[in-house]
Amino acid sequence: MTALVDQIRENISRVQTRIDKAETRSGRQPGSVKLVVVTKAQPISVMEAAIQAGAKILGENYPEETVSKLTALDPYRSSVEWHMIGHLQSRKARLVCEHFDCFQALDSVSLAQKLDRILTESQRCLPVLLEFNVSGEESKFGFSAWDESRWSELLPDIAAVLACRQLQVNGVMTMPPIFDCPEDVRPFFIRLRRLASYLNQQFPTHKWGEISMGTSSDFEIAVEEGATLVRVGTSIVGPRPVKPQ
Ligand SMILES: *Cc1c(COP(=O)(O)O)cnc(C)c1O
Repeated sequence: MTALVDQIRENISRVQTRIDKAETRSGRQPGSVKLVVVTKAQPISVMEAAIQAGAKILGENYPEETVSKLTALDPYRSSVEWHMIGHLQSRKARLVCEHFDCFQALDSVSLAQKLDRILTESQRCLPVLLEFNVSGEESKFGFSAWDESRWSELLPDIAAVLACRQLQVNGVMTMPPIFDCPEDVRPFFIRLRRLASYLNQQFPTHKWGEISMGTSSDFEIAVEEGATLVRVGTSIVGPRPVKPQ
């Protein structure tokens, strides 16, 4: 257990150093990027070790799995934030409302409205990021935003999400294609940052400051292009175990 904590602490520190350097070389304020340690599909022991090693935000993809892990990790509940970073099926919306501190992958008006209805019952407010598909890849979730000349077509949907009073929209998120060469992903990170500033112009009374992008393979490029949240799994907690069927 201690060996695992030490290992993860070392990995976090190595990733943090790379984030710091990317901030410096791109002229960004030191400390402007938060690290989300992605523990999806990892056992409770790994999550506990990540928390003990200093992780402040954990990213999870499967709400049911997270909720069962949360019960075991209840003593740590107030010392870490839990972010849902994956696509959410509407029938699992309640789990996210009740157990997560932030939902980073809001990708439709109907889901926003469902979350809003559930949150109204408890008078809770849920911080969210809107997920955008900036690459046009079919397999990716998110509001369609790969064609910059058509961004204005997004505005009615965005306005409908912003009208959901129990949702606190804080910014944007994307999951770009995976390339062999991480440099190839840069244009998509640039596009997401441009989109955030476009939305900020269109809806200036709302918050668009958070830009969640970058994973183990490309987080430094994401930092150079303006990420405020990077989501790093394997580089910190190792490969995900293969799930038994
Ligand atoms: C799994 C996942 C990550 C982390 O990916 P790694 O390659 O393990 O760093 C980041 N974001 C999302 C949305 C993910 O599903």
